[in-house]
Amino acid sequence: MRENWMRCWSRSAPICSNGCLLITPGKSILFTDPRYTTQASQEVTTQVRICKGSLIDGLAPAIARAKIERLGYEPARMTCDFFESLRARLPMKASLEPVLGWVEELRMLKSAEEIARIRRSVETNSRAFEQTVAKLRPGMKEQDLAAELEYRMRRLGAEKPSFDTIVAGGLRSALPHAQPTAAPLKPGSLVVVDMGAFQDGYASDMTRMLYVGRPTPRVKRMYRAVLEAQLAAIAAVRPGAQTAAVDRVARRVLKGHGLDKAFVHSTGHGLGLEIHEPPRLGKRDKTVLREGMAITIEPGAYLEDFGGIRIEDTVVVTANGCEVLTPTSKELREV
Ligand code: ZN
Ligand code: ZN
Repeated sequence: MRENWMRCWSRSAPICSNGCLLITPGKSILFTDPRYTTQASQEVTTQVRICKGSLIDGLAPAIARAKIERLGYEPARMTCDFFESLRARLPMKASLEPVLGWVEELRMLKSAEEIARIRRSVETNSRAFEQTVAKLRPGMKEQDLAAELEYRMRRLGAEKPSFDTIVAGGLRSALPHAQPTAAPLKPGSLVVVDMGAFQDGYASDMTRMLYVGRPTPRVKRMYRAVLEAQLAAIAAVRPGAQTAAVDRVARRVLKGHGLDKAFVHSTGHGLGLEIHEPPRLGKRDKTVLREGMAITIEPGAYLEDFGGIRIEDTVVVTANGCEVLTPTSKELREV
Protein backbone atom coordinates (compact mmCIF):
# COMPACT_ATOMS: atom_id res chain seq x y z
CA MET A 1 0.00 0.00 0.00
CA ARG A 2 3.04 2.24 0.24
CA GLU A 3 2.53 2.56 -3.53
CA ASN A 4 -0.79 4.40 -3.59
CA TRP A 5 -1.82 7.03 -1.16
CA MET A 6 -3.08 10.55 -0.86
CA ARG A 7 -2.73 13.63 1.30
CA CYS A 8 -5.47 16.22 1.74
CA TRP A 9 -5.32 19.87 2.74
CA SER A 10 -8.09 21.77 4.39
CA ARG A 11 -8.70 25.18 5.87
CA SER A 12 -5.95 24.77 8.46
CA ALA A 13 -3.14 24.31 5.92
CA PRO A 14 -0.74 27.23 5.56
CA ILE A 15 -0.47 27.50 1.76
CA CYS A 16 -3.56 25.88 0.22
CA SER A 17 -7.00 25.67 1.78
CA ASN A 18 -8.32 23.01 -0.58
CA GLY A 19 -6.05 20.39 -2.08
CA CYS A 20 -5.50 16.66 -2.38
CA LEU A 21 -2.38 14.92 -3.63
CA LEU A 22 -2.73 11.46 -5.20
CA ILE A 23 0.56 9.55 -5.25
CA THR A 24 1.01 6.43 -7.37
CA PRO A 25 4.23 4.73 -8.55
CA GLY A 26 6.06 7.21 -10.76
CA LYS A 27 3.30 9.82 -10.77
CA SER A 28 1.65 12.36 -8.47
CA ILE A 29 -1.38 14.51 -9.20
CA LEU A 30 -2.45 17.55 -7.19
CA PHE A 31 -6.19 18.26 -7.23
CA THR A 32 -7.23 21.77 -6.26
CA ASP A 33 -9.79 24.42 -7.24
CA PRO A 34 -9.66 27.39 -9.67
CA ARG A 35 -8.49 29.84 -6.98
CA TYR A 36 -5.14 28.06 -7.04
CA THR A 37 -4.65 27.69 -10.82
CA THR A 38 -1.79 30.19 -11.05
CA GLN A 39 -0.23 29.44 -7.68
CA ALA A 40 -0.20 25.68 -8.32
CA SER A 41 1.50 26.12 -11.69
CA GLN A 42 4.16 28.28 -10.03
CA GLU A 43 4.80 26.23 -6.91
CA VAL A 44 4.12 22.59 -7.76
CA THR A 45 6.22 20.20 -9.84
CA THR A 46 3.59 17.43 -10.07
CA GLN A 47 0.67 17.28 -12.48
CA VAL A 48 -2.14 19.64 -11.45
CA ARG A 49 -5.86 19.07 -12.01
CA ILE A 50 -8.15 22.00 -11.38
CA CYS A 51 -11.59 20.84 -10.19
CA LYS A 52 -14.51 23.23 -10.60
CA GLY A 53 -16.72 21.38 -8.12
CA SER A 54 -15.70 19.01 -5.36
CA LEU A 55 -12.17 17.64 -5.51
CA ILE A 56 -13.75 14.19 -5.42
CA ASP A 57 -15.15 14.83 -8.93
CA GLY A 58 -11.57 14.80 -10.18
CA LEU A 59 -10.11 12.37 -7.72
CA ALA A 60 -12.56 9.47 -8.06
CA PRO A 61 -12.20 9.06 -11.87
CA ALA A 62 -8.39 9.32 -11.54
CA ILE A 63 -8.40 6.52 -8.95
CA ALA A 64 -10.52 4.39 -11.30
CA ARG A 65 -8.31 5.12 -14.33
CA ALA A 66 -5.17 4.18 -12.39
CA LYS A 67 -6.91 0.89 -11.42
CA ILE A 68 -5.95 1.44 -7.77
CA GLU A 69 -7.14 -1.34 -5.48
CA ARG A 70 -5.69 -0.23 -2.15
CA LEU A 71 -5.42 3.45 -1.39
CA GLY A 72 -3.82 4.89 1.75
CA TYR A 73 -5.36 7.97 3.35
CA GLU A 74 -4.44 10.07 6.38
CA PRO A 75 -7.31 10.03 8.89
CA ALA A 76 -5.81 12.94 10.84
CA ARG A 77 -5.99 15.17 7.76
CA MET A 78 -9.32 14.21 6.23
CA THR A 79 -12.80 15.09 7.38
CA CYS A 80 -15.33 12.29 7.90
CA ASP A 81 -17.43 14.05 5.26
CA PHE A 82 -14.68 13.84 2.62
CA PHE A 83 -13.95 10.22 3.53
CA GLU A 84 -17.60 9.16 3.21
CA SER A 85 -18.08 11.00 -0.09
CA LEU A 86 -14.90 9.49 -1.53
CA ARG A 87 -15.77 5.99 -0.36
CA ALA A 88 -19.17 6.26 -2.04
CA ARG A 89 -17.50 7.09 -5.36
CA LEU A 90 -14.71 4.48 -5.34
CA PRO A 91 -14.72 1.55 -7.77
CA MET A 92 -16.11 -1.69 -6.23
CA LYS A 93 -12.72 -3.31 -5.84
CA ALA A 94 -10.89 -0.36 -4.29
CA SER A 95 -10.39 -0.05 -0.53
CA LEU A 96 -9.29 2.88 1.63
CA GLU A 97 -6.73 2.08 4.29
CA PRO A 98 -5.45 4.42 7.00
CA VAL A 99 -1.79 5.40 7.01
CA LEU A 100 -0.38 7.12 10.06
CA GLY A 101 2.43 9.62 10.25
CA TRP A 102 4.53 8.69 7.18
CA VAL A 103 5.24 12.29 6.23
CA GLU A 104 5.53 13.41 9.84
CA GLU A 105 8.10 10.70 10.51
CA LEU A 106 10.27 11.94 7.65
CA ARG A 107 9.82 15.52 8.79
CA MET A 108 11.14 14.87 12.30
CA LEU A 109 14.70 15.18 11.00
CA LYS A 110 15.41 18.71 9.79
CA SER A 111 17.94 19.62 7.12
CA ALA A 112 20.50 22.37 7.73
CA GLU A 113 18.34 24.73 5.66
CA GLU A 114 15.28 23.93 7.75
CA ILE A 115 17.19 24.51 10.99
CA ALA A 116 18.41 27.85 9.63
CA ARG A 117 14.79 28.85 8.99
CA ILE A 118 13.68 27.76 12.47
CA ARG A 119 16.57 29.76 13.91
CA ARG A 120 15.46 32.90 12.02
CA SER A 121 11.89 32.37 13.19
CA VAL A 122 13.08 32.00 16.80
CA GLU A 123 15.17 35.18 16.56
CA THR A 124 12.31 37.22 15.12
CA ASN A 125 9.99 35.93 17.82
CA SER A 126 12.43 36.84 20.60
CA ARG A 127 13.07 40.28 19.13
CA ALA A 128 9.32 40.96 18.99
CA PHE A 129 9.10 39.96 22.67
CA GLU A 130 11.96 42.27 23.69
CA GLN A 131 10.63 45.27 21.77
CA THR A 132 7.16 44.82 23.24
CA VAL A 133 8.13 44.11 26.83
CA ALA A 134 10.39 47.18 26.88
CA LYS A 135 7.26 49.33 26.45
CA LEU A 136 4.96 47.31 28.66
CA ARG A 137 3.25 49.13 31.55
CA PRO A 138 0.98 47.80 34.32
CA GLY A 139 -2.65 48.20 33.38
CA MET A 140 -2.23 47.19 29.75
CA LYS A 141 -4.91 44.76 28.58
CA GLU A 142 -3.94 41.15 27.87
CA GLN A 143 -5.46 41.50 24.38
CA ASP A 144 -3.44 44.63 23.64
CA LEU A 145 -0.21 42.99 24.71
CA ALA A 146 -0.97 39.97 22.48
CA ALA A 147 -1.82 42.26 19.54
CA GLU A 148 1.39 44.25 20.01
CA LEU A 149 3.51 41.07 20.10
CA GLU A 150 1.92 39.81 16.87
CA TYR A 151 2.28 43.22 15.16
CA ARG A 152 5.96 43.38 16.14
CA MET A 153 6.75 39.89 14.85
CA ARG A 154 5.15 40.70 11.50
CA ARG A 155 7.08 43.96 11.26
CA LEU A 156 10.26 41.98 11.93
CA GLY A 157 9.67 39.57 9.05
CA ALA A 158 7.28 36.86 10.26
CA GLU A 159 4.42 35.82 7.99
CA LYS A 160 2.14 35.38 10.98
CA PRO A 161 2.05 33.96 14.51
CA SER A 162 2.50 30.18 14.56
CA PHE A 163 -0.51 29.96 16.93
CA ASP A 164 -2.81 32.40 18.73
CA THR A 165 -0.57 34.27 21.17
CA ILE A 166 -1.27 33.44 24.80
CA VAL A 167 -1.20 36.28 27.32
CA ALA A 168 -2.82 35.46 30.65
CA GLY A 169 -2.47 37.33 33.93
CA GLY A 170 -3.26 36.52 37.56
CA LEU A 171 -5.19 33.32 38.24
CA ARG A 172 -5.73 32.84 34.51
CA SER A 173 -2.02 32.10 34.15
CA ALA A 174 -2.95 28.72 35.63
CA LEU A 175 -4.82 27.88 32.38
CA PRO A 176 -2.09 26.39 30.15
CA HIS A 177 -3.86 27.48 26.92
CA ALA A 178 -5.66 30.66 27.96
CA GLN A 179 -6.84 33.16 25.36
CA PRO A 180 -6.06 36.84 26.07
CA THR A 181 -8.97 38.84 27.49
CA ALA A 182 -9.75 42.53 28.01
CA ALA A 183 -8.53 42.23 31.62
CA PRO A 184 -5.75 44.68 32.58
CA LEU A 185 -2.42 43.36 33.88
CA LYS A 186 -2.83 44.17 37.55
CA PRO A 187 -0.04 44.81 40.08
CA GLY A 188 0.81 41.68 42.02
CA SER A 189 0.08 39.24 39.21
CA LEU A 190 1.98 36.64 37.26
CA VAL A 191 1.65 36.93 33.48
CA VAL A 192 2.36 34.07 31.08
CA VAL A 193 3.34 35.00 27.52
CA ASP A 194 3.46 32.06 25.08
CA MET A 195 4.19 33.13 21.51
CA GLY A 196 5.61 31.86 18.23
CA ALA A 197 6.19 33.04 14.68
CA PHE A 198 6.02 31.48 11.24
CA GLN A 199 8.92 32.76 9.19
CA ASP A 200 9.90 31.34 5.78
CA GLY A 201 7.28 28.70 6.55
CA TYR A 202 8.87 27.51 9.81
CA ALA A 203 7.61 27.78 13.36
CA SER A 204 9.15 29.02 16.60
CA ASP A 205 7.69 28.68 20.10
CA MET A 206 8.64 30.39 23.37
CA THR A 207 7.08 30.99 26.78
CA ARG A 208 8.30 33.63 29.23
CA MET A 209 6.89 34.86 32.52
CA LEU A 210 6.38 38.43 33.66
CA TYR A 211 5.46 39.74 37.08
CA VAL A 212 3.66 43.01 37.57
CA GLY A 213 5.47 44.56 40.55
CA ARG A 214 7.78 42.73 42.96
CA PRO A 215 7.36 38.93 43.02
CA THR A 216 6.54 37.36 46.39
CA PRO A 217 8.82 34.68 47.89
CA ARG A 218 6.28 32.00 46.93
CA VAL A 219 6.28 33.12 43.29
CA LYS A 220 10.08 33.17 43.25
CA ARG A 221 10.24 29.67 44.74
CA MET A 222 7.83 28.26 42.20
CA TYR A 223 9.62 30.04 39.39
CA ARG A 224 12.97 28.58 40.44
CA ALA A 225 11.45 25.08 40.58
CA VAL A 226 10.10 25.30 37.01
CA LEU A 227 13.37 26.80 35.77
CA GLU A 228 15.34 23.99 37.42
CA ALA A 229 13.07 21.44 35.69
CA GLN A 230 13.50 23.17 32.34
CA LEU A 231 17.29 23.34 32.61
CA ALA A 232 17.49 19.70 33.72
CA ALA A 233 15.33 18.59 30.78
CA ILE A 234 17.49 20.58 28.34
CA ALA A 235 20.59 18.94 29.81
CA ALA A 236 19.02 15.53 29.12
CA VAL A 237 18.45 16.22 25.40
CA ARG A 238 20.97 14.35 23.27
CA PRO A 239 21.01 11.85 20.42
CA GLY A 240 19.98 8.41 21.70
CA ALA A 241 17.89 9.73 24.60
CA GLN A 242 14.27 8.64 24.63
CA THR A 243 11.69 11.42 24.64
CA ALA A 244 9.94 9.87 27.66
CA ALA A 245 13.25 9.97 29.55
CA VAL A 246 13.59 13.73 28.97
CA ASP A 247 10.01 14.16 30.16
CA ARG A 248 10.80 12.10 33.27
CA VAL A 249 13.73 14.37 34.15
CA ALA A 250 11.47 17.45 34.23
CA ARG A 251 8.82 15.59 36.23
CA ARG A 252 11.34 14.35 38.78
CA VAL A 253 12.62 17.87 39.49
CA LEU A 254 9.09 19.21 39.92
CA LYS A 255 8.25 16.30 42.22
CA GLY A 256 11.18 17.32 44.44
CA HIS A 257 9.40 20.67 44.88
CA GLY A 258 5.98 19.09 45.43
CA LEU A 259 4.79 20.32 42.05
CA ASP A 260 4.53 17.09 40.03
CA LYS A 261 0.72 17.10 40.16
CA ALA A 262 0.72 20.71 38.98
CA PHE A 263 2.52 19.74 35.73
CA VAL A 264 -0.40 18.78 33.53
CA HIS A 265 1.03 18.51 30.02
CA SER A 266 4.02 16.97 28.27
CA THR A 267 7.53 18.44 28.43
CA GLY A 268 7.66 19.42 24.77
CA HIS A 269 6.92 18.73 21.13
CA GLY A 270 8.56 18.79 17.73
CA LEU A 271 8.04 21.82 15.51
CA GLY A 272 8.83 22.80 11.93
CA LEU A 273 6.33 23.38 9.13
CA GLU A 274 3.68 23.02 11.81
CA ILE A 275 3.74 24.26 15.39
CA HIS A 276 3.06 20.78 16.77
CA GLU A 277 4.84 17.91 15.05
CA PRO A 278 6.19 14.60 16.30
CA PRO A 279 7.97 13.71 18.47
CA ARG A 280 6.03 14.42 21.62
CA LEU A 281 8.08 14.54 24.81
CA GLY A 282 5.49 12.89 27.01
CA LYS A 283 5.31 10.08 29.54
CA ARG A 284 4.57 7.39 26.99
CA ASP A 285 6.42 8.63 23.90
CA LYS A 286 9.14 6.22 22.83
CA THR A 287 10.86 8.21 20.08
CA VAL A 288 14.65 8.18 20.29
CA LEU A 289 16.09 11.66 19.77
CA ARG A 290 18.39 12.14 16.79
CA GLU A 291 20.65 14.91 15.62
CA GLY A 292 18.64 17.39 13.55
CA MET A 293 15.36 17.19 15.47
CA ALA A 294 13.83 20.52 16.49
CA ILE A 295 11.80 20.38 19.69
CA THR A 296 10.50 22.55 22.51
CA ILE A 297 11.26 22.09 26.21
CA GLU A 298 8.42 23.59 28.21
CA PRO A 299 7.67 22.25 31.68
CA GLY A 300 5.15 24.18 33.74
CA ALA A 301 3.30 24.17 37.04
CA TYR A 302 -0.31 25.32 37.40
CA LEU A 303 -2.10 25.94 40.69
CA GLU A 304 -5.74 26.87 40.28
CA ASP A 305 -5.86 29.21 43.30
CA PHE A 306 -2.43 30.76 42.78
CA GLY A 307 -1.41 30.96 39.11
CA GLY A 308 0.78 29.15 36.63
CA ILE A 309 4.38 29.25 35.46
CA ARG A 310 5.81 27.81 32.24
CA ILE A 311 9.22 28.36 30.65
CA GLU A 312 9.70 27.27 27.04
CA ASP A 313 12.58 27.29 24.57
CA THR A 314 13.04 25.95 21.06
CA VAL A 315 16.06 23.64 20.88
CA VAL A 316 17.80 21.57 18.21
CA VAL A 317 19.38 18.18 18.90
CA THR A 318 23.08 18.32 17.97
CA ALA A 319 25.76 15.60 17.63
CA ASN A 320 26.48 15.51 21.36
CA GLY A 321 23.66 17.34 23.10
CA CYS A 322 21.47 20.20 22.02
CA GLU A 323 21.57 23.86 21.16
CA VAL A 324 19.04 26.21 22.72
CA LEU A 325 18.02 28.51 19.87
CA THR A 326 15.94 30.88 21.99
CA PRO A 327 18.18 33.85 22.94
CA THR A 328 15.74 35.47 25.41
CA SER A 329 16.83 35.64 29.04
CA LYS A 330 15.01 33.28 31.38
CA GLU A 331 14.75 35.58 34.37
CA LEU A 332 11.33 36.37 35.80
CA ARG A 333 10.77 39.87 34.38
CA GLU A 334 9.36 42.56 36.62
CA VAL A 335 7.24 45.19 34.89
ZN1 ZN B 1 4.47 27.66 23.39
ZN1 ZN C 1 5.07 24.64 22.69
